Amino acid sequence: MDERKEKMKAIRDEVTLLKESPLYAERIANKVFPVIGEGSHYAKLMFIGEAPGKNEAETGKPFCGKSGKILDELLASVGIKREDVYVTNIVKDRPTANRDPLPEEIEIYAPFLDRQIEIIQPKVIATLGRFSMEYIMKKFGLEDVLRSISVMHGKVFTGKTGYGEVTIVPLYHPAASIYNQSLKETLKEDFLVLEKYSQ
Ligand code: URA
Repeated sequence: MDERKEKMKAIRDEVTLLKESPLYAERIANKVFPVIGEGSHYAKLMFIGEAPGKNEAETGKPFCGKSGKILDELLASVGIKREDVYVTNIVKDRPTANRDPLPEEIEIYAPFLDRQIEIIQPKVIATLGRFSMEYIMKKFGLEDVLRSISVMHGKVFTGKTGYGEVTIVPLYHPAASIYNQSLKETLKEDFLVLEKYSQ
């Protein structure tokens, strides 16, 4: 098996058995799935969302419901194919009733996200929403420039990794644009920035 695939599979196996997670019991009770991530293990561009919603937990696939439809539309608007990118979340199990993830949930799942970044070695990381923005900015030592997402979205930051530099582009979460057309336009403009940096 391809080495990256093998490492991703190890992550899937560990998350599947993660009894220590506060979200594990509910996943088992609801007979749903953890959502590890989807896309190319050789992607230049990696998207990091928040946590799976209902559709995602039922299918095991990230961004496959309403937010996913918007993500697909945004990708299409700049000619990026979904199969060429990697899409994941910071939290790998669905928080009860779609509430915001709790700090202890982020803490338990973030090491898996860290490993996914090491495996894929993306050139560009696009965060979707404030939870992944805050985590990624802090992870790359950029907490000093961290502001609210209304200030950060569409701006370009540079982080250092073991494999070289990574470009970080914070974006609004697609779900925020469901009932807000002007935010959708903002997301479209910010995707033009992404297109430029992910070529
Ligand atoms: N929202 C997210 O943050 N992630 C998903 O996978 C779906 C909706």
